[in-house]
Amino acid sequence: MDRERFAQVIQILEAKYPRELPSHIREDPYRTLIGCILSARTKDEFTDKAYNALFTKYPNPQDILAASEEEIRQLIKPVNFYITKARRIKQATAYIMQHFNGRIPDDRAKILEVPGIGEKCADIVLSYAFGHNTVAVDTHVDTVAKRLGVCPEDADYEEVKRALETLAPKEKIWNLNNLFVEFGQQICTKNNPKCYLCPIYDLCEWSGKQLRGKQPKQKHNTHRGIKRPS
Ligand code: SF4
Repeated sequence: MDRERFAQVIQILEAKYPRELPSHIREDPYRTLIGCILSARTKDEFTDKAYNALFTKYPNPQDILAASEEEIRQLIKPVNFYITKARRIKQATAYIMQHFNGRIPDDRAKILEVPGIGEKCADIVLSYAFGHNTVAVDTHVDTVAKRLGVCPEDADYEEVKRALETLAPKEKIWNLNNLFVEFGQQICTKNNPKCYLCPIYDLCEWSGKQLRGKQPKQKHNTHRGIKRPS
Protein backbone atom coordinates (compact mmCIF):
# COMPACT_ATOMS: atom_id res chain seq x y z
CA MET A 1 0.00 0.00 0.00
CA ASP A 2 1.46 3.35 -0.98
CA ARG A 3 0.63 6.81 0.40
CA GLU A 4 -1.63 7.72 -2.50
CA ARG A 5 -3.78 4.61 -2.17
CA PHE A 6 -3.89 4.96 1.58
CA ALA A 7 -5.07 8.57 1.25
CA GLN A 8 -7.89 7.24 -0.98
CA VAL A 9 -8.80 4.69 1.70
CA ILE A 10 -9.10 7.46 4.30
CA GLN A 11 -11.08 9.71 1.98
CA ILE A 12 -13.62 6.97 1.21
CA LEU A 13 -13.98 5.87 4.85
CA GLU A 14 -14.33 9.46 6.08
CA ALA A 15 -17.21 10.00 3.66
CA LYS A 16 -18.82 6.71 4.67
CA TYR A 17 -18.34 6.93 8.44
CA PRO A 18 -18.44 10.56 9.54
CA ARG A 19 -19.00 9.51 13.15
CA GLU A 20 -18.45 11.68 16.16
CA LEU A 21 -16.15 10.40 18.83
CA PRO A 22 -18.03 8.65 21.61
CA SER A 23 -18.27 10.78 24.75
CA HIS A 24 -15.89 8.57 26.74
CA ILE A 25 -12.94 9.67 24.58
CA ARG A 26 -13.69 13.34 24.11
CA GLU A 27 -12.89 14.72 27.50
CA ASP A 28 -9.81 15.49 29.56
CA PRO A 29 -6.81 13.11 29.74
CA TYR A 30 -7.84 11.48 33.05
CA ARG A 31 -11.39 10.84 31.88
CA THR A 32 -10.17 9.60 28.51
CA LEU A 33 -7.89 7.12 30.26
CA ILE A 34 -10.71 5.87 32.51
CA GLY A 35 -12.97 5.68 29.43
CA CYS A 36 -10.38 3.47 27.78
CA ILE A 37 -10.40 1.09 30.75
CA LEU A 38 -14.19 0.94 30.63
CA SER A 39 -14.33 0.34 26.88
CA ALA A 40 -12.34 -2.90 26.73
CA ARG A 41 -14.48 -5.57 25.05
CA THR A 42 -17.60 -3.45 25.47
CA LYS A 43 -19.85 -1.69 22.97
CA ASP A 44 -19.69 2.12 22.92
CA GLU A 45 -23.29 2.55 24.09
CA PHE A 46 -22.61 0.59 27.30
CA THR A 47 -19.23 2.26 27.83
CA ASP A 48 -20.90 5.67 27.54
CA LYS A 49 -23.60 4.68 30.06
CA ALA A 50 -21.04 3.57 32.63
CA TYR A 51 -18.78 6.54 31.92
CA ASN A 52 -21.59 9.06 32.38
CA ALA A 53 -22.84 7.39 35.57
CA LEU A 54 -19.33 7.30 37.04
CA PHE A 55 -18.36 10.89 36.29
CA THR A 56 -21.78 12.31 37.18
CA LYS A 57 -21.40 10.96 40.68
CA TYR A 58 -17.62 11.28 40.99
CA PRO A 59 -16.37 14.05 38.68
CA ASN A 60 -12.69 14.11 39.75
CA PRO A 61 -9.89 11.63 40.44
CA GLN A 62 -10.03 12.74 44.10
CA ASP A 63 -13.69 11.68 44.29
CA ILE A 64 -12.98 8.33 42.66
CA LEU A 65 -10.10 7.69 45.01
CA ALA A 66 -12.38 8.38 48.00
CA ALA A 67 -15.19 6.14 46.69
CA SER A 68 -15.23 2.45 47.57
CA GLU A 69 -14.56 -0.19 44.93
CA GLU A 70 -18.11 -1.48 45.49
CA GLU A 71 -19.57 1.97 44.70
CA ILE A 72 -17.54 2.14 41.48
CA ARG A 73 -18.70 -1.37 40.56
CA GLN A 74 -22.36 -0.44 40.89
CA LEU A 75 -21.94 2.62 38.67
CA ILE A 76 -20.08 0.86 35.88
CA LYS A 77 -22.21 -2.29 35.80
CA PRO A 78 -23.26 -1.76 32.14
CA VAL A 79 -19.72 -2.69 30.94
CA ASN A 80 -18.31 -6.19 30.61
CA PHE A 81 -15.88 -7.28 33.34
CA TYR A 82 -17.07 -4.43 35.59
CA ILE A 83 -15.64 -6.06 38.72
CA THR A 84 -12.11 -6.19 37.32
CA LYS A 85 -12.49 -2.76 35.73
CA ALA A 86 -13.59 -1.18 39.03
CA ARG A 87 -10.38 -2.50 40.61
CA ARG A 88 -8.27 -1.20 37.72
CA ILE A 89 -9.92 2.22 37.92
CA LYS A 90 -9.14 2.47 41.63
CA GLN A 91 -5.53 1.31 41.17
CA ALA A 92 -4.88 3.63 38.23
CA THR A 93 -6.44 6.58 40.06
CA ALA A 94 -4.42 5.95 43.21
CA TYR A 95 -1.22 5.94 41.12
CA ILE A 96 -2.21 9.09 39.21
CA MET A 97 -2.99 10.92 42.44
CA GLN A 98 0.20 9.80 44.14
CA HIS A 99 2.66 10.29 41.26
CA PHE A 100 1.06 12.95 39.05
CA ASN A 101 -1.04 14.87 41.57
CA GLY A 102 -4.21 13.93 39.68
CA ARG A 103 -3.05 15.23 36.28
CA ILE A 104 -2.03 12.82 33.53
CA PRO A 105 1.28 13.95 32.03
CA ASP A 106 1.68 14.51 28.28
CA ASP A 107 4.32 11.79 28.18
CA ARG A 108 3.83 8.29 26.75
CA ALA A 109 6.42 6.60 28.93
CA LYS A 110 4.89 8.07 32.08
CA ILE A 111 1.34 7.14 31.08
CA LEU A 112 2.55 3.57 30.52
CA GLU A 113 3.72 3.49 34.16
CA VAL A 114 0.11 3.71 35.36
CA PRO A 115 -0.94 0.23 36.54
CA GLY A 116 -3.13 -1.59 34.01
CA ILE A 117 -2.51 0.92 31.21
CA GLY A 118 -1.13 -0.53 28.00
CA GLU A 119 0.01 0.96 24.73
CA LYS A 120 -3.47 1.27 23.24
CA CYS A 121 -4.86 3.29 26.16
CA ALA A 122 -1.74 5.47 26.28
CA ASP A 123 -2.12 6.24 22.57
CA ILE A 124 -5.86 6.91 22.94
CA VAL A 125 -5.04 9.52 25.60
CA LEU A 126 -2.22 11.04 23.51
CA SER A 127 -4.22 11.25 20.28
CA TYR A 128 -7.67 12.24 21.53
CA ALA A 129 -6.99 14.14 24.76
CA PHE A 130 -3.59 15.69 23.97
CA GLY A 131 -4.08 16.01 20.20
CA HIS A 132 -0.90 14.21 19.12
CA ASN A 133 -0.54 12.75 15.64
CA THR A 134 -0.46 9.18 16.86
CA VAL A 135 -2.57 6.07 16.28
CA ALA A 136 -4.03 3.81 18.94
CA VAL A 137 -3.93 0.26 17.55
CA ASP A 138 -6.83 -1.80 18.84
CA THR A 139 -8.04 -5.10 17.42
CA HIS A 140 -10.01 -3.43 14.59
CA VAL A 141 -7.16 -1.15 13.57
CA ASP A 142 -4.78 -4.12 13.61
CA THR A 143 -7.06 -6.28 11.45
CA VAL A 144 -7.88 -3.60 8.90
CA ALA A 145 -4.29 -2.36 8.57
CA LYS A 146 -2.97 -5.86 7.94
CA ARG A 147 -5.68 -6.76 5.43
CA LEU A 148 -5.18 -3.54 3.50
CA GLY A 149 -1.49 -4.35 3.17
CA VAL A 150 -0.26 -1.47 5.33
CA CYS A 151 2.05 -3.84 7.21
CA PRO A 152 2.90 -7.56 7.32
CA GLU A 153 0.45 -9.98 8.95
CA ASP A 154 2.88 -10.67 11.80
CA ALA A 155 3.58 -7.00 12.61
CA ASP A 156 3.45 -6.18 16.33
CA TYR A 157 1.79 -3.13 17.94
CA GLU A 158 4.67 -0.74 17.31
CA GLU A 159 5.13 -1.88 13.69
CA VAL A 160 1.43 -1.44 12.85
CA LYS A 161 1.40 1.98 14.51
CA ARG A 162 4.56 3.15 12.74
CA ALA A 163 3.33 1.92 9.34
CA LEU A 164 0.03 3.77 9.71
CA GLU A 165 1.68 6.95 10.96
CA THR A 166 4.13 6.86 8.04
CA LEU A 167 1.50 6.31 5.35
CA ALA A 168 -1.31 8.62 6.49
CA PRO A 169 -1.43 12.34 5.75
CA LYS A 170 -0.28 14.07 8.95
CA GLU A 171 -3.57 15.80 9.72
CA LYS A 172 -5.48 12.51 9.43
CA ILE A 173 -3.38 10.43 11.80
CA TRP A 174 -5.18 11.26 15.07
CA ASN A 175 -8.55 10.07 13.70
CA LEU A 176 -7.41 6.76 12.13
CA ASN A 177 -8.42 4.76 15.18
CA ASN A 178 -11.92 6.22 15.11
CA LEU A 179 -12.25 5.55 11.38
CA PHE A 180 -10.98 1.97 11.40
CA VAL A 181 -12.92 0.96 14.52
CA GLU A 182 -16.22 1.86 12.89
CA PHE A 183 -15.26 0.14 9.62
CA GLY A 184 -13.91 -2.90 11.48
CA GLN A 185 -17.09 -3.25 13.52
CA GLN A 186 -19.41 -2.94 10.54
CA ILE A 187 -17.64 -4.34 7.47
CA CYS A 188 -14.08 -5.63 7.90
CA THR A 189 -14.96 -7.81 10.86
CA LYS A 190 -12.36 -10.20 12.27
CA ASN A 191 -14.45 -13.24 11.33
CA ASN A 192 -16.39 -13.19 8.07
CA PRO A 193 -15.56 -9.72 6.72
CA LYS A 194 -18.34 -8.39 4.50
CA CYS A 195 -16.13 -7.86 1.45
CA TYR A 196 -19.22 -7.83 -0.78
CA LEU A 197 -20.22 -4.53 0.88
CA CYS A 198 -16.75 -3.05 1.19
CA PRO A 199 -16.36 0.54 -0.07
CA ILE A 200 -12.57 0.12 -0.38
CA TYR A 201 -12.60 -3.31 -2.01
CA ASP A 202 -10.44 -2.27 -4.95
CA LEU A 203 -7.79 -0.82 -2.66
CA CYS A 204 -7.55 -3.85 -0.36
CA GLU A 205 -4.50 -6.05 -0.89
CA TRP A 206 -5.60 -9.00 1.27
CA SER A 207 -5.30 -12.31 -0.57
CA GLY A 208 -8.09 -13.74 1.60
CA LYS A 209 -10.74 -11.24 0.61
CA GLN A 210 -13.95 -12.74 -0.73
CA LEU A 211 -14.77 -12.34 -4.37
CA ARG A 212 -16.90 -9.30 -5.01
CA GLY A 213 -20.59 -10.14 -5.23
CA LYS A 214 -20.12 -13.37 -3.27
CA GLN A 215 -22.54 -12.63 -0.47
CA PRO A 216 -22.85 -15.69 1.77
CA LYS A 217 -26.18 -17.47 1.38
CA GLN A 218 -28.67 -16.92 4.19
CA LYS A 219 -29.04 -19.89 6.48
CA HIS A 220 -32.48 -21.37 7.03
CA ASN A 221 -33.90 -23.07 10.07
CA THR A 222 -34.98 -26.28 8.38
CA HIS A 223 -37.17 -27.41 11.27
CA ARG A 224 -39.53 -24.47 11.30
CA GLY A 225 -38.85 -22.90 7.92
CA ILE A 226 -37.87 -19.66 9.68
CA LYS A 227 -35.10 -17.55 8.18
CA ARG A 228 -32.30 -16.89 10.61
CA PRO A 229 -30.05 -13.88 10.26
CA SER A 230 -26.72 -14.98 8.84
S1 SF4 B 1 -12.21 -6.13 0.91
FE1 SF4 B 1 -12.76 -7.37 2.70
S2 SF4 B 1 -10.83 -7.73 3.77
FE2 SF4 B 1 -10.49 -6.00 2.37
S3 SF4 B 1 -10.85 -4.17 3.59
FE3 SF4 B 1 -12.78 -4.71 2.57
S4 SF4 B 1 -13.90 -5.99 4.04
FE4 SF4 B 1 -11.75 -5.88 4.71
